[in-house]
Amino acid sequence: MSQPYFKNRDCRCQRCRARGLTGAAILITLGILFLIQTWGGPDFGMTWPVLLIVIGIFSYVSHVASIEGHIQPYAILGNTPPSAVPPPPQSNPEVKQ
Ligand SMILES: [Zn+2]
Repeated sequence: MSQPYFKNRDCRCQRCRARGLTGAAILITLGILFLIQTWGGPDFGMTWPVLLIVIGIFSYVSHVASIEGHIQPYAILGNTPPSAVPPPPQSNPEVKQ
């Protein structure tokens, strides 16, 4: 692996997936912490460091996770995805103007 790693939203390797899930994990943790407060548990002012732990865990995982099968984003490779290339215009010799 001599190539540097670049995040690719469309890639399904472990590292890209871990990075993609970080935002969701933060939102879920926030929701749980506020829910605990609503249910009469400890105040969010006491439980917010859990958020730092979750962010730290996902940050760590996204650094050590395998990039086996990783696909670099197309912008880095300097070409366009196959779906973005328009099909060549078809000349129809049957049509006469
Ligand atoms: Zn990847």
